[in-house]
Amino acid sequence: MSGGFREAVIDLDAVSANVARLREIVGTEHVMAVVKANAYGHGAVECARAALAGGADWLGVADISEGIALREAGVDAPVLAWLHDPDEDFAAAVAAGLDVGISSRAQLEAAAAAGAPGRPASVQLKLETGLSRNGIPASEWEAVVARAHELEESGAIVVRGLFSHLSNASPDDDRAAIAKFTWGVERAEAAGLRPELRHIAASAAALSLPESRFNLVRFGLAVYGLSPFGAASAAELGLRPAMTLRGRVAAVRRVAAGTGVSYDYTYRTEAETTLALVPLGYAEGIPRHASGRGPVSIAGKRYRISGRVAMDQFVVDVGNAEVEVGDEVVLFGDPATGVPGADDWAEAADTINYEIVTRLGGRLRRTYRGGAA
Ligand SMILES: *Cc1c(COP(=O)(O)O)cnc(C)c1O
Repeated sequence: MSGGFREAVIDLDAVSANVARLREIVGTEHVMAVVKANAYGHGAVECARAALAGGADWLGVADISEGIALREAGVDAPVLAWLHDPDEDFAAAVAAGLDVGISSRAQLEAAAAAGAPGRPASVQLKLETGLSRNGIPASEWEAVVARAHELEESGAIVVRGLFSHLSNASPDDDRAAIAKFTWGVERAEAAGLRPELRHIAASAAALSLPESRFNLVRFGLAVYGLSPFGAASAAELGLRPAMTLRGRVAAVRRVAAGTGVSYDYTYRTEAETTLALVPLGYAEGIPRHASGRGPVSIAGKRYRISGRVAMDQFVVDVGNAEVEVGDEVVLFGDPATGVPGADDWAEAADTINYEIVTRLGGRLRRTYRGGAA
């Protein structure tokens, strides 16, 4: 068994079950699984298939190139891509049958230029409702929807959806954004558009603010079995973390009291003890910021990293426990099984669970359990 040296094990059945559970919670006509950034570090193609098997009927990505990669892997479900190069030529997106999110008049014209009667560009217009990222400003919305209607009549585009994105700053801020979005939907309809999809909610709002659901919600983090907010844990929401991040003890040494450990000796042993070497480092996306704090489970017992996280490895003082070379080390997984969760790592690194899973890479091997494959 050489597996598990540096490994992220992804449970695809958990991904499918999470999507089924989320569908049941929100009850919307459509559910989009967001698989951008390699499915938050979980593997885009595998997770896209598992999410579709769980009942998602849309996939979401940031970049068109991510959508094309799904098509090249044979995923033919509807896909929306919403963040574009300033010089984006939408021809590749149209050829791949991707929907493109439109955040400016210039993008609308570029999409129309890539479409033609018989093969229109399928677009979804994004209204800026207060996140201050991309989206068409409210002041330009009526002119843009009027132009979109004209382009739709010409056969160059089809306006399949209207959308926006929330700040999650507070329920009141989100309600204010929803009110702006509702205004935008009305103005688009007044201009003659009849978009099939209307959506504004990602995981947090979809789960906590029912009026945000419209007829599609975009679930990212929750698909992977993590909770987007402190108010409810993933387990309380009926979700199961899909990723287990693990490694194998690469070396063990018995050392005397007062031994300095790892760069800069930020940790020194208090007594004679055993040190275990774990072969994951910041090259794999283990946050160096979690030095001295990140939790691990070795042979079923919980420890914290001792000293600095290095590029390739870190050390754990396991006291007098009988740890051997080759033992499994779990950095995080499903807390219901007694191991630390991604949330514990987020706390140890002063960040959010989103970042903990998404930043993983380097020499990490991803392996998959369950799923249709
Ligand atoms: C990333 C993203 C999502 C998914 O957000 P989660 O909080 O992970 O559910 C949804 N919509 C847009 C526009 C995004 O960029």
